[in-house]
Amino acid sequence: MLRIGLTGGIGSGKSTVAAALADIDGVTVIDADAIARDIVRPGQPALGELALEFGSDIVSEDGHLDRGLLAERAFRDAAATERLNAIMHPRIITEAAHRLDTAEENGALAGVYDMPLLFETGQADKFDTVIVVDVDSEERVRRLTEHRGIDAADARRRMAAQIGDEERRNGADIIIDNNGPLSALAPQVKSIVGPLIDAERRRSPVH
Ligand code: ADP
Repeated sequence: MLRIGLTGGIGSGKSTVAAALADIDGVTVIDADAIARDIVRPGQPALGELALEFGSDIVSEDGHLDRGLLAERAFRDAAATERLNAIMHPRIITEAAHRLDTAEENGALAGVYDMPLLFETGQADKFDTVIVVDVDSEERVRRLTEHRGIDAADARRRMAAQIGDEERRNGADIIIDNNGPLSALAPQVKSIVGPLIDAERRRSPVH
């Protein structure tokens, strides 16, 4: 199975690319943000650790995480954010590896790991191919404010917490340029990634 890391700055269109990839026969997409939500569901061990670190009132009586309260406390300063990451990141990494292995066991030709912080968390080396979705930063701010209702200052703050665009591009094996219209994105994804999947299919005796 081909292991593909998919990343891009916030608002680059990464989720849209992930959806186009999921449409290709034989591709399984694993979403890091979904894992981050799954591991703090009621009863999950991470929730207990978060409560110890950030206060038991971040978990309601029926066991649900109060995300707003956690964010307030965990993004207060860099040290608090580090404590949050120390709880979350190792678990996300373990669960992602497990889901990718399961995809392989189930015969996927390609397992795509959709992860905003692929470089920031030092995971790029684990993949055969790293795809970066690239869009000019001001255009990303525009799309985030227009389509996702995030205000411009907040969008810029979130972007500043990620690595720079040039550094991200430098780490890419494949760059998907999403500066153009949305209608051009899925065809571009299919024409660039499709041949990689076809090559994997030819290599794989089962397909
Ligand atoms: P990410 O997952 O990288 O944060 P999304 O895939 O959610 O980004 O895209 C951010 C927003 O921009 C979404 O509302 C999406 O529909 C829109 N979008 C994505 N690509 C384009 C494009 N080429 N032109 C215009 N809007 C786009």
